[in-house]
Amino acid sequence: MGRESRGWDGTVLRIMGAPDYQLTVTARTEVNPHYLRLRMRGWPLLAEHGQHPTMWIRLWFFNGKRMHQRAYTVVAPDPEAGTFDLEFAMHDGAAANWARAAQPGDTITATVMGSKFAVPDPAPAGYLIVGDTASLPAVNSLLAAIGDVPARVWLEWQHDTDPRLPVHATPGTEVTWIRREDAGRALVSQLAQSAFDATGYYAWVACDMRTTRAVARLLREQFHVDRKAIRSTAYWVA
Ligand SMILES: Cc1cc2nc3c(=O)[nH]c(=O)nc-3n(C[C@H](O)[C@H](O)[C@H](O)COP(=O)(O)OP(=O)(O)OC[C@H]3O[C@@H](n4cnc5c(N)ncnc54)[C@H](O)[C@@H]3O)c2cc1C
Repeated sequence: MGRESRGWDGTVLRIMGAPDYQLTVTARTEVNPHYLRLRMRGWPLLAEHGQHPTMWIRLWFFNGKRMHQRAYTVVAPDPEAGTFDLEFAMHDGAAANWARAAQPGDTITATVMGSKFAVPDPAPAGYLIVGDTASLPAVNSLLAAIGDVPARVWLEWQHDTDPRLPVHATPGTEVTWIRREDAGRALVSQLAQSAFDATGYYAWVACDMRTTRAVARLLREQFHVDRKAIRSTAYWVA
């Protein structure tokens, strides 16, 4: 499937000079029935782009008509070996279905452009982190990067097995799993009940689009987090 089948997104990325990489699946681990890890070999992607917490790449999936790009987070990068993991929160979509069927030896194209993030320096008073299983790989890379700074983490779950997924919490991290109900409103209302004066904190939010917006507003208005200290990104659209 050539670049021409990637539509407008693909054209824009090509004009911007975003490089492509061929990734090969080398192993698959079903962490649980709703969460899958694939080990990828993709030399020289990491060597050319380095790594940073929450780093993501664009993968191209065929949905029956044309190629669609979907963002996935780089997990456990090993630049010397040229390997990293991708972790998939499973649902019914082109990306998740590709991962469900993927076997060692299968290949996929990745384009690298747009991922940029550094933990704040100087360190904030603490972190407020709100996500779900799609953003868990990024949350874990963020927790690994913030050292001993205290963090409050709220994670939305959809399947009974979700709250048993590993969270890279330090002793200063408090993790609360909240069942996804009422299209994300349960998370927002439980978060509102936990509101405190978080002036001086940094917030990182990645849920579905509507929840992400509602949480970012709540963090500004009820936790008093400075607008510039909130990094919010919609990770999927419900
Ligand atoms: C920067 C960034 C990094 C990301 N990293 C990861 C990652 O490491 N792992 C990961 O699993 N996801 C990650 N995501 C989210 C992932 O890109 C989306 O979930 C994407 O929509 C999946 O594409 P799809 O083709 O499977 O489903 P789509 O075609 O987009 O959607 C098909 C159906 O599935 C639903 N759906 C999509 N995603 C989810 C979900 N997470 N939970 C429940 N229902 C869903 C949609 O509402 C729709 O009804 C990331 C997103 C961003 C923006």
